Amino acid sequence: MPRFRLAVHKFSSCDGCQLALLNLGDALLELAELVDIVHFAEAGPVNEDAPVDLALVEGSVSTAHDVERIRRIRDSARVLVAIGACATAGGLQSLRNRADGAAWLSGIYDAPQHIDFVAQVAPVSAHVKVDLELWGCPVNKQQVLAALKDVMLGVAPRRPTASLCLECKRLGRVCTLVTGSDVCMGPVTRAGCGALCQGRGRGCYACFGPAEGVNTEALGRRLHAGGLTTDDVARRFHFINANAPAFAAAGDAWRRRDGGDGT
Ligand code: SF4
Ligand code: SF4
Repeated sequence: MPRFRLAVHKFSSCDGCQLALLNLGDALLELAELVDIVHFAEAGPVNEDAPVDLALVEGSVSTAHDVERIRRIRDSARVLVAIGACATAGGLQSLRNRADGAAWLSGIYDAPQHIDFVAQVAPVSAHVKVDLELWGCPVNKQQVLAALKDVMLGVAPRRPTASLCLECKRLGRVCTLVTGSDVCMGPVTRAGCGALCQGRGRGCYACFGPAEGVNTEALGRRLHAGGLTTDDVARRFHFINANAPAFAAAGDAWRRRDGGDGT
């Protein structure tokens, strides 16, 4: 029976989600015994165009070269999983979609003319079919491992859709929003991180993206009543997952309350 073939691809990103994979430790060594890792440049093997059973894709699609590459990768992968906020929503770099992107690039790079950037930073799903999205900045390594097992076993992957508050309560964390010790985006954020920040007495900053069916308006009003300015509330939504539709719309609405145009 042919061995399962895995590839890990990087697009526009900080590599943090690939590091989460490398931090699997013993589990990664066990995985390497079971599968052929044919492409994972950060770990060693390079063979980007090899046909694979599963392609894990980190990073947003931000350049014309990215657009061409993601199509090739989709064609050579039986299953494609987008990992992390950059790949699932465009990540922090998508903030340039609501700014003067060309001016930002000129401010950062000496020779921006050599960068073939596309007008809109986009998640992988904007360009090709994605079979599963794992959110987070970075992804939770246990979630990645569970998804790998599900794909290898041919069962439907688990897709957390509830809000972080459920996970936080199950773990018995003290609510920072109720105690007033910190702003928390948990009520509108997808579960899956293990309520890491609450375990350290901090509020959530929404790196796992929007949960399903959330009431962003109610949370925004709660944060505003708690002392955040309308601009602060907008920034809480326009952050790591600013390009995710629910957060984009909520942030735009709070910016318009200040008389702005939503950008
Ligand atoms: S999702 Fe976050 S940790 Fe992962 S590559 Fe993007 S910026 Fe880095
Ligand atoms: S701390 Fe945040 S995530 Fe936890 S219950 Fe309170 S609002 Fe929800």
